[in-house]
Amino acid sequence: MDLEKAGHSLSHVMTLAVKRLYGKDILLGFGPAIKNGFYQDFDYPFSQPDLEKIESEMRDIINSDYSFERELIRIEDAKEYYRKNNQKYKLELLEDIQKKGSVNSTESNEEIVNLAKDGFVSFNNLPEHKDLCKGGCIGYENSNC
Ligand SMILES: [Zn+2]
Repeated sequence: MDLEKAGHSLSHVMTLAVKRLYGKDILLGFGPAIKNGFYQDFDYPFSQPDLEKIESEMRDIINSDYSFERELIRIEDAKEYYRKNNQKYKLELLEDIQKKGSVNSTESNEEIVNLAKDGFVSFNNLPEHKDLCKGGCIGYENSNC
């Protein structure tokens, strides 16, 4: 199994789980896959019981028949989406992408860099949740992500 892809997919699942449990207004941070898994920032003071609830919700999502759908979206529309949802960190991220063409200068995903040059980003959509995504999810049948 590709651990980076698994971590990437799980960060989306974790974000959906947290939104379900704590409301869609919870402030989302960044959540890249890393060498040994993934991380996902939230602007919220979680405690140990929260983490157990989140893990349980993630298992429910994984055991349901959700699938990821990828969507290309204009950066301006993505900004409007996050503005409406009061997601200031995601807005900052999109500003960075607009300015630099990517989140960081070492971005190796050519497709993402080219999309940004054309004024687009890609979103990963689940039925109750859409979020920025570089692509590369696994673990779901019919996944286009
Ligand atoms: Zn993704």
